[in-house]
Amino acid sequence: MRILVVAEHDHRAVCVASRSALTFARQCAAASGGSVEWLLLGHSLDLPAADAACYAPVLAADRPALADPLAERYAPVLAAAVAKRRADLLVAASGTFARDSVTRAAGLLGGAMAGDVVGHEFHGGRLRLQRPMYAGAVLATIELCAAPQIITVRPGSYPPAERAETCADVVPLDVPETEGPALSEYLGVASQRAGRPDVSEARVVVSGGRAIRSREDFERLVGGLADACGGAAGSTRPLVDAGIAANEFQVGQTGKIVAPDLYLALGVSGSVQHLAGVKNSKLIAAINRDPEAPIFSAADYGLVADLYEAVPELIVKLRSV
Ligand SMILES: Cc1cc2nc3c(=O)[nH]c(=O)nc-3n(C[C@H](O)[C@H](O)[C@H](O)COP(=O)(O)OP(=O)(O)OC[C@H]3O[C@@H](n4cnc5c(N)ncnc54)[C@H](O)[C@@H]3O)c2cc1C
Repeated sequence: MRILVVAEHDHRAVCVASRSALTFARQCAAASGGSVEWLLLGHSLDLPAADAACYAPVLAADRPALADPLAERYAPVLAAAVAKRRADLLVAASGTFARDSVTRAAGLLGGAMAGDVVGHEFHGGRLRLQRPMYAGAVLATIELCAAPQIITVRPGSYPPAERAETCADVVPLDVPETEGPALSEYLGVASQRAGRPDVSEARVVVSGGRAIRSREDFERLVGGLADACGGAAGSTRPLVDAGIAANEFQVGQTGKIVAPDLYLALGVSGSVQHLAGVKNSKLIAAINRDPEAPIFSAADYGLVADLYEAVPELIVKLRSV
């Protein structure tokens, strides 16, 4: 199996989620006797290319037109790379980038796609994939029956790949520039991350629910506890809808899927849609003043308390450790 893995990066290094996708790809290549290469897109790629090469050979599409992550520019390059390398499998980390660019590439390629893969096995030489369906209510086992195959892998389901013993080569990706219609223009990005890690990559995620009454409370309680644990701040959808938390913080079916070592839910009821994004967490702890809240059924540890009293105490205790 010839496998290409999309390397998402932050202009310095490859993201942890893409390294999880690389682990999946390495396992598939080992089982099928194939090869794995990174597919790196962007502009001024020296730093991320050097980092990526520590894990696998790199095909780099380094162009000014790819400086900003616009799906209409990225998807044709991804599709052309698959065609050029005659790849059997295009792999990427599940996430907002893949939902936008990789699905469009799949449309251009006309192969078969499976998203959010959490496990796999080879059966009679064929790749079988496990993926959640119906907001995580069931786990489906599927085989893809067309080529090429496009697969997104849920971060956390596979450990991030370790560096190889020696660094590999970085080779320019030689595909023609496609001049599609300029359907959108990238104007900029606004982020409220405040220097914290992203929810989909952090080892600790502290999420706030509707119980949080204002932006200031969110920053003080959710952000404060996240900082005390060295983690990321997340939220449920109502806080995003109310403008209390930024869109990028939303965890769940229509937000980000997280798989931290510890997920701390503050004033979160535990809806099916929220839990769909949290299930892969190693440990879930919840604070809720309602002892009947469904979150306690999903949590390993629970505290029945008013978070406005419990969280400031917790922050003080953690800071004194
Ligand atoms: C198609 C679809 C997709 C969706 N996608 C998502 C998604 O991706 N992510 C998501 O989160 N939701 C999503 N939702 C919304 C989801 O159905 C729930 O409405 C939402 O998750 C509830 O958020 P919540 O737990 O913050 O609020 P609530 O359900 O209102 O729960 C608030 C909780 O806070 C507790 N509480 C109140 N005050 C305090 C206090 N002072 N101290 C301690 N506890 C307190 C209450 O007891 C309650 O349990 C989606 C819905 C639909 C229909």
